[in-house]
Amino acid sequence: MDLKIGIAGLSPSWKIILEQEGISYREIDCSLPIDPDEFSAIIIDDINATTFDSNYLKNGGAVLFSSKSYAKIFNKKLYMKKKKVVADANSIFSELGIIDLVGRIGIVRDEELKCEDKGLNILSGKLGKGSFYIMPFDLDKEILNLSSCRRKFIANRNELPSEVVAKVSKAKLRKTVTTILSILLDIRKLPFIHKSYIPGNNGLFIFRIDTDNCSKEDAENLLKVCEKHSIRASWFVDTMNEQKLSDLYANMKDQEIGLHCFRHLVFDNYSANFENIDTGMKNLQRSNITVKGFAAPFGSWNTSLNEVLEKFDFTYSSEFVPSYDDLPFYIYTNNQYSNILQIPIHPISLGRLRRSHFTKEEMIEYYINIINEKRKRNEPILIYHHPHHKLLDVIDAVFGYVNKLGLANYTMNEYAEWWQKRNQIKMDISFEENELRMNIDDEDMTIINNKKVCNFKSRKRIDLSKLEFVPIKSLSKPLNINLTRKYHWRDTLYDYESWKGRRNR
Ligand SMILES: [Zn+2]
Repeated sequence: MDLKIGIAGLSPSWKIILEQEGISYREIDCSLPIDPDEFSAIIIDDINATTFDSNYLKNGGAVLFSSKSYAKIFNKKLYMKKKKVVADANSIFSELGIIDLVGRIGIVRDEELKCEDKGLNILSGKLGKGSFYIMPFDLDKEILNLSSCRRKFIANRNELPSEVVAKVSKAKLRKTVTTILSILLDIRKLPFIHKSYIPGNNGLFIFRIDTDNCSKEDAENLLKVCEKHSIRASWFVDTMNEQKLSDLYANMKDQEIGLHCFRHLVFDNYSANFENIDTGMKNLQRSNITVKGFAAPFGSWNTSLNEVLEKFDFTYSSEFVPSYDDLPFYIYTNNQYSNILQIPIHPISLGRLRRSHFTKEEMIEYYINIINEKRKRNEPILIYHHPHHKLLDVIDAVFGYVNKLGLANYTMNEYAEWWQKRNQIKMDISFEENELRMNIDDEDMTIINNKKVCNFKSRKRIDLSKLEFVPIKSLSKPLNINLTRKYHWRDTLYDYESWKGRRNR
């Protein structure tokens, strides 16, 4: 039995999702016969597909349909609706909470189907020995969208922090897909295997610092806290003050230096972005600092900025507009994939928490919660700070917690390199009599089987009964979901402050 996912309609958004997850997949034509032993599940989201050889399902296969494809193939009515999408409180999808979308969803009306999540409009059905799920999202419209807006983030209090981030909850759409795939494979009593999101199995902590014209003293004080806890951070530096570059950043040991800006702005055209980054790069060169990474002021991103970053051959960049709380990916824009690996982070900084009147205790609790939740899913933990915001006792407590848990600590560039290597791995996995056979050795893998999970190193042959599975931990239920969408007069104030900060000064 081959553990490969077949996909009919491999669009850029599907490619992004499948590569983020690290799933073994192959493009297929769903009108041709498909052997259930050749694909553990298939995805059908192909606008051109009008037929499907349903023997694959009848003989025990598993299918994830987009509602558009399902309606077209089975000649059912499809209702396109613009609506708020919130997962049901008690479904398997409940931890997703609200999914922010820009487009409409496609709702199928078919009396014979079972509703798995009313809020998300996810349906399921059976055909012969096989099972299928239907998902309502137009993934290309959502995942490839690059617009942004202010979003509030959940915390255990009334006044919530906010930031200008991607309009679409892209990570949640990806998680919807993988949740469905793991259910479908579970029904077939097959394991769901993907490349791990991070090296190892005990969590990965990455600390980003945007220096924002801070004083030398503020940067030195933050460096001391990093050194006290042996945290190697990634410092994205401002470059106007060359003295600070040569006296401070050029001499930092065991820390990564990346470029933040010359002028603290992102422009909407190529030449202004080029000039700004070119000046910054020249100043770095004069101080003998080489950089691989970039993080844009305000987490802004646009295609002209991307072109400049490609011109300067950056390995990666990290912003809030392409996505947040998500896995790395290559942005698809102007009908092609960017060469720059995008590394999303958790976008709420201590500055935003302070602006929303968090006490220091609440700030520490906020980050400890982020760390715990991401660790439950073996996702990378990426947070960031500005030296001029100080709050060093909060950072000290967060680092202390990171080390208490024994999390691995990478710089962003180390993670980018690890991720690029992960992307190159071509894996073939087969499954026979409880034994996995793989073509790759010593790679970080994750296996989900019967609602239990195990992170392991790949080997040519693995007896499943010898792997140590643990039950999948449930995430905390999303609190106060409605508060995150409730207007508050401060939202207008924050938007004004943000507009003022981004003006061409
Ligand atoms: Zn900045």
